[in-house]
Amino acid sequence: MIVVMKRDCEQKEIDAILARLQEMGFAGHLSKGVERTVIGVVGQTYPELAQMLEVFPGVDEVVPISRPFKLTSREFQPRDTTIKVGSVTIGGSEVVVMAGPCAVESEQQVVDTAWAVKRAGAHILRGGAFKPSTSPYQFRGLGEDGLKILTTAKAETGLPIITEVLTPADVELVARYADILQVGARNMQNFTLLDEVGKTRMPIMLKRGMSATIQEWLLSAEYILSQGNRRVMLCERGIRTFETYTRNTMDVSAIPLIEKLSHLPIIGDPSHGTGKWYLVAPLALAAVAAGADGLMIEVHPNPDHALKDGAQSLTFENFAQLMTQLKGVAASVGRPLVSSE
Ligand code: PEP
Ligand code: MN
Repeated sequence: MIVVMKRDCEQKEIDAILARLQEMGFAGHLSKGVERTVIGVVGQTYPELAQMLEVFPGVDEVVPISRPFKLTSREFQPRDTTIKVGSVTIGGSEVVVMAGPCAVESEQQVVDTAWAVKRAGAHILRGGAFKPSTSPYQFRGLGEDGLKILTTAKAETGLPIITEVLTPADVELVARYADILQVGARNMQNFTLLDEVGKTRMPIMLKRGMSATIQEWLLSAEYILSQGNRRVMLCERGIRTFETYTRNTMDVSAIPLIEKLSHLPIIGDPSHGTGKWYLVAPLALAAVAAGADGLMIEVHPNPDHALKDGAQSLTFENFAQLMTQLKGVAASVGRPLVSSE
């Protein structure tokens, strides 16, 4: 349930409610907006609790939230969450583009790609140092050496870094190098990892599990928020269907649906969403037209020789062309691309 406070409520009235909730074993999550201040009450709530809270000074009304996800919901926070990463704001009016190779392979590969995507107008550099792999025989990433390479590329280009963290034990290490922690599709329901990234105050990008419903996905985000980390964005990266022409089926409808159900920013990943480089641009444009706050795109200097996901990686030229097309589509839905100086 959420406790909606009166517009002119005082801080001590808010504090009194938070203290009472704690006494009773509930977690109270405060959200102060321009329009209204609300306290989200998380735990096994019951109708008598609402009646009890209603009589506290400063309370306007107590509203039950019937959805299983609470802190993630629009009811709890009507205004959009915005996440600042360096000079870039994710979830604001502008569209943010994250681009780079699937996996960090070498310093030259990452630095060259970072410059190419920056020149084309990307805002954040992606690259996996710890790679989840379906087969144990595939490339599994350079580990900490890969993180160091990303840091070099960041130092040269100024682009912030997003990279995946695979296990709870690695959160501290990856957080030392990254600007955004990525939780991958295969880990969407790794609840100990979600708890661990929730304890940090780092921006987190939570990818949709390949067979996850929207509700399961939002409940996974709820794990992170309920640990106190509100800097969460979601990423639609395609789901598994009966179709085999594509690697996954990019669920474009998830984008406006998330926008309706949640205040968290939503990013589209047409690279994993389709698995085919020539489908990446059309689906990237579709995602932005559908209201995505950003895109994640795989780019490689030489996709034919990529150690991972070459078939879905764009060349520098194709990425630059996509960025040009994107400007027009973003502008047509009132969402300019973040200007890159
Ligand atoms: C990736 O971003 O390279 C990745 C492994 O993505 P996903 O978790 O969506 O498969
Ligand atoms: Mn990949």
